[in-house]
Amino acid sequence: MKPFAYTRATDQQTAIGAVAREQTAKFIAGGTNLVDLMKEGVEQPDRLVDITRLELVRIEERPDGALQLGALARNADTANHPLVRQRYPLLAQALLAGASPQLRNMATNGGNLLQRTRCYYFYDVALPCNKRQPGSGCGALEGYNRIHAILGASVQCIAVHPSDMCVALAALDAVIQVEGSQGARSIPIGEFHRLPGDTPQTDTNLQRDELITAIDLPAAAAVFAPHSYYLKVRDRASYAFALVSVAAAFELDGDTIRQARVALGGVAHKPWRAPEAEKILTGARAGEETYRKAAEAALQGARGYEHNEFKIEITKRAIVRALTTAGGKL
Ligand code: SF4
Repeated sequence: MKPFAYTRATDQQTAIGAVAREQTAKFIAGGTNLVDLMKEGVEQPDRLVDITRLELVRIEERPDGALQLGALARNADTANHPLVRQRYPLLAQALLAGASPQLRNMATNGGNLLQRTRCYYFYDVALPCNKRQPGSGCGALEGYNRIHAILGASVQCIAVHPSDMCVALAALDAVIQVEGSQGARSIPIGEFHRLPGDTPQTDTNLQRDELITAIDLPAAAAVFAPHSYYLKVRDRASYAFALVSVAAAFELDGDTIRQARVALGGVAHKPWRAPEAEKILTGARAGEETYRKAAEAALQGARGYEHNEFKIEITKRAIVRALTTAGGKL
């Protein structure tokens, strides 16, 4: 691992200033992704600014009824918080489906948002990867691409975002609070992560010196609590990224769907919201026929590569299964 300098920040402004001053400095909290990448030589920061002492661990209700998750709250603590379990069970389920218990005890909410969109070629510095080294090529396009994207990819990169938490956040319309040297701002989750386009090296729309301070879960999203479900399809039950995942939620009026949310994981460079599916579900009668139509709509623009064509049909079936489970006994 390349040597680096270490600074322990005691307040937000010091942390932001330290990263703003030095082009290759990075924030570190749980370190569950960053340290791995540093060991492989993929990330080579000259300075790490440790933010774990900052007061960003609280999970609390805001005056407008939103639930605010501190950026430094651990994934395990967030999943097990009574208000998260009661109002946003979709998020609790997604968090508990992610990683291993050990990782969830270390990983923070902010870090989960910032884990790199990646594939196995990204980790291997001997192989081409446009994300790791822009312009070098994409090892996955002509290589082994079983786990790769079926939606929103580009000729530069077909990697998928690995987070489960972020898929639930997409369905819940979460808002990310950030602060940087230019001040504070709020970023809707749908605008936080990027599609690869011609710049696959950039995963998010965050500025380099911006620090995630919190994630807000809107009060209105609590209406989905009785009818929501996170389904993760993976190769190993114990610990694996999603081949595909579905965050499904709806509000029912009798057996009519008043409003619906569908977000997909493991299919694109970012958590993938499916508005075409939501449009079909809204106002329709809950049931398999409606769910299948919604699934077809969600995957209309999907495109597979040599080894991952199967993900298109699996995703459709996962959407139907997640919606059926979310519906419960109608
Ligand atoms: Fe790199 Fe993206 Fe290609 Fe994977 S899919 S090798 S991350 S450019």
